[in-house]
Amino acid sequence: MTAVRVPGAPIISDGRLVSTSPATGAEVGRLPVAAGDDVARAVERAREAAGWWAGLGFTGRRERLLRWRGVLARRIEELAELMHAEGGKPVPDAIVEVLTAIEHIDWAARNAGRVLRPRRVRSRLILAEFTGHLEYQPYGVVGVIGPWNYPVFTPIGSTAYALAAGNTVVLKPSEYTPVVGQWLVDSLAEVVPEQPVLTAVHGLGDVGAALCRSGVNKLAFTGSTTTAKKVMAACAETLTPVLLEAGGKDAMIVDSDADLDAAAEACVWGGLTNAGQTCIGIERVYAVEPVFDVFVGKVVERAGRLTVGADGSDIGPITMPGQLDVIRRHIDDALARGGRAVLGGAEAVQPPYVRPTILVDVPEDSLAVREETFGPTLTINRVRDAEEAITRANALPYGLGGSVFGRRRAVAIARRLRSGMAAVNSTLTFAGMSTLPFGGVGESGFGRIHGEDGLREFGRPKAVTRRRARSLLPAMTFERTPADVARLVKVTKLLYGRRR
Ligand code: NDP
Repeated sequence: MTAVRVPGAPIISDGRLVSTSPATGAEVGRLPVAAGDDVARAVERAREAAGWWAGLGFTGRRERLLRWRGVLARRIEELAELMHAEGGKPVPDAIVEVLTAIEHIDWAARNAGRVLRPRRVRSRLILAEFTGHLEYQPYGVVGVIGPWNYPVFTPIGSTAYALAAGNTVVLKPSEYTPVVGQWLVDSLAEVVPEQPVLTAVHGLGDVGAALCRSGVNKLAFTGSTTTAKKVMAACAETLTPVLLEAGGKDAMIVDSDADLDAAAEACVWGGLTNAGQTCIGIERVYAVEPVFDVFVGKVVERAGRLTVGADGSDIGPITMPGQLDVIRRHIDDALARGGRAVLGGAEAVQPPYVRPTILVDVPEDSLAVREETFGPTLTINRVRDAEEAITRANALPYGLGGSVFGRRRAVAIARRLRSGMAAVNSTLTFAGMSTLPFGGVGESGFGRIHGEDGLREFGRPKAVTRRRARSLLPAMTFERTPADVARLVKVTKLLYGRRR
């Protein structure tokens, strides 16, 4: 059978997933599709490796993960070129992505022991004769399902933390970026040749679905909200715990005392980097009336300077060909409802590229304001004041990140955004700060990667109490006497009975 090739659209040929460049259609690689019980077998092998990996302890794993970090750092250009070839991402953007991923591997490796290792926990007066012990034990095998838009940063955000916590990982990369996913697996195998602590299973959505049902001990998913719901439903069948990093529609608020040049620069970067195909990308901007016109002018001037094309351009192709229709529909809908294009517009979609498009005065109920566009487009709407901006920013079911530009009120506004993360006077920066948790609320998912919370996400808390002396107040025994119970009542009133 001869398949019609749309550049970038993956096809399966002779049991292999063929990955192509969205810009040129050139083949980037082909990988065996997981069929039959391949996924189950990969999970089984990962389970066998899990005992060995956990047995290395925090120190042994740290040493291996730091060596992996070193491989990525030394081969950063090679990996960035591959990301460019497979997903169309401009090489400088790919470099920034890999750097961020490297930082996460480094932090997870160095901090897993401190955060997760066994420790003694203070007891309280009512169980004073006991000590408490707490540790975070690995789950075993973690399944990681990743998207195509950040094919290194997103899987590593789960994988590095899961590995550091002592789990092994079976990764299902997106069908649009399987070659990059396999590169990550192979690079780790260079420094951990003994056991398959990270393996990949390739294929379409059905392979991801099989991974959910494969008996993995936890599933970390990054992708769209629609798929996140399917993943959660599949995992519910076996009560497999899930971590869901789903879509977003992040807003930026520009307050009256903002540095407008800095805000415009960050807005263009936050909205249009990676051709706008960023889960935490800025898609909607609310600028207060007094600064609206000047701000829009500065954004248009900067966005208008960006180059669009295959090699060496600021904005590359749209990775997933089907997304072009979504972007076109959002622009058309915004214009049909009275919005204005002050840059780009209906003609901006020129497959596989989309030219930067800035839409203003777009009705709040239009697609471009309410749904994930995932293209180099921005809506900028005027608001009376910061209060109205917050109300509008919080009006959607999504809640991933966000950004605020301003001075006096900026941090207070950021705290009131209904989102898991926010950046003040910058955009997207929380993704690179390995000490901070990353994740959303509402339709953007739940659970956290990165930081201490991200490490704990991949360990089961194990609580142990240990008796160290005879009980003065016997409570949990049939051998307590009526006098003991009377004493318990007395102590309860003494300790907890105060009115305040
Ligand atoms: P998708 O939800 O389409 O796919 C994500 C992954 O799930 C892919 O590997 C996909 O495989 C797989 N998959 C598809 N169907 C199923 C299924 N039924 N069961 C299990 N797995 C399945 O998302 P995209 O790849 O299009 O990524 C873009 C989305 O990801 C955007 O919504 C973006 O906002 C979000 N995202 C969220 C991030 C976050 O941290 N919150 C970060 C980055 C992106 P296949 O590709 O083979 O279909």
